[in-house]
Amino acid sequence: MQLDRLILQSLESWQRAGMSHLDKFQGEASLLDDLAAAATTAAPEPPQPARPTPSAPPPVAKQPPAPAAPQRPEYTEPPRVQAPPPEVTPPSAEGPRRTERQTMKHAERVQCLAQLADTVSKCTRCPELAAARTQTVFGVGNPEARVMFIGEAPGADEDKQGEPFVGRAGQLLNKIIEACGWTREELYICNILRCRPPGNRNPSPIEAGNCREYLLGQIATVDPDYIVCWGTIAAQNILQTKTPIGRLRGELFDYEHSKVLCTYHPSYLLRNPPAKKLVWEDLKILLREMGIDPENPKK
Ligand code: URA
Repeated sequence: MQLDRLILQSLESWQRAGMSHLDKFQGEASLLDDLAAAATTAAPEPPQPARPTPSAPPPVAKQPPAPAAPQRPEYTEPPRVQAPPPEVTPPSAEGPRRTERQTMKHAERVQCLAQLADTVSKCTRCPELAAARTQTVFGVGNPEARVMFIGEAPGADEDKQGEPFVGRAGQLLNKIIEACGWTREELYICNILRCRPPGNRNPSPIEAGNCREYLLGQIATVDPDYIVCWGTIAAQNILQTKTPIGRLRGELFDYEHSKVLCTYHPSYLLRNPPAKKLVWEDLKILLREMGIDPENPKK
C-alpha cells in the first residue's frame, strides 16, 4: 500500500475514534495455584459504595444500543493544560460510533502505532509528567490483538524500561495472562497514561484527558474484540463513569466494537491477595464469552 494511502487510512480510523488533531503527524507459585488457594479463602469484598445508579453505564448490551436504552453518564471534557488538542469526542452510547471494523493489515497497523508512538514520545501536554519522565511508555503487543489490556499508568520500572507492566504488578499480570491460556505477545497492553506520574500518584483527570487521544488512537488501530480495564482508573476512563470498580466488575460492557471487562488492578491484588478469586471470576466471564473453557483455556 502506498504510504499516503496508509496515512490517510490511519487518520480516518483515528478520526472515526474521535481524534481530531495530532500535534505532529509523522516466580512464585503459578497464578492458578494462587487462584485455587484464594478460592478456598473467603475474599473480603473491598469497600463498595451503593450499586450504580441510573447514571451508571448500562450493562452489556449484546444487542445494538437502542435510542431508549439507559444512558451512560454524561461526559465532561476535563480542562486541559498547555496547547490542548482540539476536541476529543468521547465514546458513548449516544456519540458517533465506528460502523466498520478495522481493515488495516498487520504491517499498516504497526506503522500507524509507530507513528502515534513517535508523536507521544515528544508530547509535553502534561508539563509535570514530561519533565519527570525517563521516557514515554506507549504500549506493547500484537497490533491485531483480540484482547487489549488497559492499565493505569507506568510506574518506576515501566518508566525505566519503556514497557507497560514490567514491575511487580506486571509479574502478577503475566501469571494471570498464563492462567487465561494467553501469551503477552498475543495481547496488546497499554495504559491510560503514557508517562509516569511522580511518586506513582493517581493520574489527574487533566492528565487522563490529555492522554486520551493517544489511547483512542491505539484502540482504533488495534480494534480489539475485548478490552480488559485493570483497576478503577482504566475502568472509569473507558466507560466514562464515576462508578467504582467494585460495581463495574463482574459484567461486560460495550465500547465501540469491543466488549469491556473491568476488574481489580494487579497492584491491588498484591496488597489484597484474596481478591485474586474475584479477578478470576471476572476473567472467567470474559473467557466464556470468547468461547474459551476457563478450566482448560489452552484447549
Ligand atoms: N501499573 C499500571 O497500571 N501500568 C503499568 O504499566 C504498570 C503498573
